[in-house]
Amino acid sequence: MTAPNVSAVEQQAPVLDRLNDLLAEVSRSNAFQRERVDGLVLTSLNDLSRIRPVDKDQLLRDQLAYPPFGRNLTYPRERYVHLHQTSGTSGSTLRVLDTEEDWAWWRACLHDVFAAAGVGQTDLVALAYSFGPYIQFWASYEGAGAVGANRIALGGMDSVQRLQTIREYSATSLVCTPSYAMRLAKVANQTGLTDALCSVTRIICTGEPGASLPAVHSQIEQLWQAQCFDHAGLSEVGAFGYPCAQGGGVHVNEREFVAEIVDPESEAPVGDGEVGELIVTAIGRKGFPAIRYRTGDVVECRDGPCPAQHPGRWLPGGILGRTDDMVVIRGMNVFPSAIEQVLREFDEIGEFKITYYNEPTAMDEVKVEVELAQPNQGRAIQARLRTRLGLRVRIVPLQPGILPTDSGKARRVIDTRQTQPRRLSPDRRSG
Ligand SMILES: [Zn+2]
Repeated sequence: MTAPNVSAVEQQAPVLDRLNDLLAEVSRSNAFQRERVDGLVLTSLNDLSRIRPVDKDQLLRDQLAYPPFGRNLTYPRERYVHLHQTSGTSGSTLRVLDTEEDWAWWRACLHDVFAAAGVGQTDLVALAYSFGPYIQFWASYEGAGAVGANRIALGGMDSVQRLQTIREYSATSLVCTPSYAMRLAKVANQTGLTDALCSVTRIICTGEPGASLPAVHSQIEQLWQAQCFDHAGLSEVGAFGYPCAQGGGVHVNEREFVAEIVDPESEAPVGDGEVGELIVTAIGRKGFPAIRYRTGDVVECRDGPCPAQHPGRWLPGGILGRTDDMVVIRGMNVFPSAIEQVLREFDEIGEFKITYYNEPTAMDEVKVEVELAQPNQGRAIQARLRTRLGLRVRIVPLQPGILPTDSGKARRVIDTRQTQPRRLSPDRRSG
């Protein structure tokens, strides 16, 4: 029998009271959640498992059936003052509404992220985001303000303009995706703007797996000569993870979220050291609730505390990948992020492209096309991938500058297999 997977929180009773208040309120007036939670009163956090998990597809289908905002709204429309939307990778856009109270809650959660990264009143935070309708941009801006920092939005600028702005104001902290942090440093080197990197002492990353991967993390720190921090969140849930400055990775903010880690197929809790999907319940978000929400994020389950004994469940690798990114190749779980980690351990690696393919009647294969300054590095990369993933991977060395450069979320994976089985086996993992 597996031990209960819901984390112990510092103050169990208040969390339970707040959750029961939330369930009572949504039972009264939220048509989407009422069907899921009606009448349930929790006597312990483990009772949460009596509610069926919900995922993004269900929210999207609800918004399609009840356009444009769906039924996951606890209050009359006029209570909502913030409208954001996701850029769904599947092409479906999820709309997210927040009340003034919920927005204050977002701000408080992002406050905890910036505070854990050591950002404070003497800092100037530069946010290298486009500042479109995606919630992350605006919530990060709020959170940096909540710790007393000054901040500047670098929307509507190209990389050179961003570097010039960072230099002009001597920004001390940079917020962006991990791949953009690396790209911006490279642009600085190519355009003679390396002095723009000097004032930045902290890089706060989110938006894609990577910042917790040791190789990516150390490359960002080396390029910028700054500390790199990771954090985690989702539009439909909230900013649930804050960085661990000592041990790396992220902590679940268990003051505001209940986290479970389950096998995505069986939904049974996974054990210490296994990987599974993160299910999150937002305790303080009432207007657009997230109750047992399947994040699609794959994390490692660790029962023990981080090296610094911080509160909140520790996710040592941060977000390892997405359940829908992960593929099974010849029985092994493979994440693009695990392959990226190995590549980044080698010097002078340019862009790369991962292709999953199979020949008729043959087994699944992985091909990695990678820009190499020294083509003979290919063998060493292949050997290390074999050790790390337990897989033979075909390496195709390319001249630098052949593959397109990604400035936003990395799009570097192609799957041409006829059948694409997707399964997460909790007992084996890559990376
Ligand atoms: Zn920690």
